[in-house]
Amino acid sequence: MALSYSVSVPAAGSRQWVTVLGSTGSVGCNTLDVIARHPDRFGVFALSGHRNIDLLAQQIEQHRPRYAVVPDVNSQRELAARLPGDHTEILVGTAALEAMAEHPDVQIVMAAIVGSAGLLSSLAAARAGKRLLLANKESLVVAGDLLMSAVQQSGAELLPIDSEHNAIFQCMPGEHRLQGVASVLLTASGGPFLNFTAEQLEQVTPEQAVAHPNWSMGQKISVDSATLMNKGLELIEACWLFGLQPADVEVVVHPQSVIHSMVRYVDGSVIAQLGTPDMRTPIAYGLAYPDRIDSGSAALEFTAQLGLSFDQPDRGRFPCLRLAEEAIAVGGTCPAVLNAANEVSVEAFLQRRLSFPQIAHINELVLNQLAHEPATSVEQLLGIDARARALAKAAIEART
Ligand code: NAD
Ligand code: MG
Repeated sequence: MALSYSVSVPAAGSRQWVTVLGSTGSVGCNTLDVIARHPDRFGVFALSGHRNIDLLAQQIEQHRPRYAVVPDVNSQRELAARLPGDHTEILVGTAALEAMAEHPDVQIVMAAIVGSAGLLSSLAAARAGKRLLLANKESLVVAGDLLMSAVQQSGAELLPIDSEHNAIFQCMPGEHRLQGVASVLLTASGGPFLNFTAEQLEQVTPEQAVAHPNWSMGQKISVDSATLMNKGLELIEACWLFGLQPADVEVVVHPQSVIHSMVRYVDGSVIAQLGTPDMRTPIAYGLAYPDRIDSGSAALEFTAQLGLSFDQPDRGRFPCLRLAEEAIAVGGTCPAVLNAANEVSVEAFLQRRLSFPQIAHINELVLNQLAHEPATSVEQLLGIDARARALAKAAIEART
């Protein structure tokens, strides 16, 4: 199903209220940085954080939201103790995340929670017809059909924040976005281990894996970039966002991360979006679309030797990309199973309970263990997510 991107342009001079879910994370902090550059245009309605209560308290002091959401009453107490005033009401739990995503006073929702934990609030924003700035790619991987249907039914504006998808969006102008498109070129940096041998990959540490050569990101997506699972998740994300088949998407390794993705047209044209690797560019684009506003990112210097290079991904050393391709080809609940297994195996790698290559082994094992069904409801998908997590945990236990 292809999206039609209708645009509701705010009246001149009106300020738009933004809920930032996952505000203490990498994308969340970048979002607040862009918002702070445009106080006449945007105000912060609600923030949410999971563990870093100190940072959440600082953000509340700076942005003075009406609400903040934390996971439990202990965090609520801890946060209240750090806040001198009572200008912000502190809410608790996942239902509060949904409430902040669908609140009638909110126009824009930044979905920047990591993992399938972000699904229900992404869906709530979509159902409520908001401008949904989707960084949380796992929402689309787990429940692409449901999320896209909700967007269609409510008339929500779904704008991709993942830099590649934001680039693709920018390279497909106009109302009939797929007209004349031959394929999409999804670029991948290849991560920190691009040129490592299979033997070297056995030895890599979490510290090496989270040190991405070009982008500064949260731990989970950094490991996903190193395994190429991130590119697999992004392939699935691109299929849902733009109504593409997996065969329409070519994954291209481009280690410099200067081109953020490209669209190839039937007339021979290839349109690319370029920039310095800074998430504030796609975030600013999403916040102000169709306007362009200052994002704070540095200009791309063409006098420097950009040395752009391109290569094929190696699915042998990085099997997670192949697994994602297989999962989207089967469809239904299969991508949700892969995503859940991967969230668990990445966490185990970060805790040094799995080696780097074992991430893919666990993911494949779980993918082959669960029978796949058509995706029918969010309850079914969350149930499958839980079963896949339990299987992954058991498989990891059995190995360690
Ligand atoms: P991060 O780990 O830095 O931040 C995650 C945020 O989610 C934090 O605010 C954390 O408190 C919150 N959170 C974690 N678990 C939660 C839970 N169970 N319930 C509620 N909130 C929870 O992650 P990030 O790098 O900012 O990535 C966020 C999302 O954006 C991911 O889906 C990622 O794939 C996507 N993304 C990130 C980047 C990037 O540059 N960081 C780029 C493209 C896409
Ligand atoms: Mg990306």
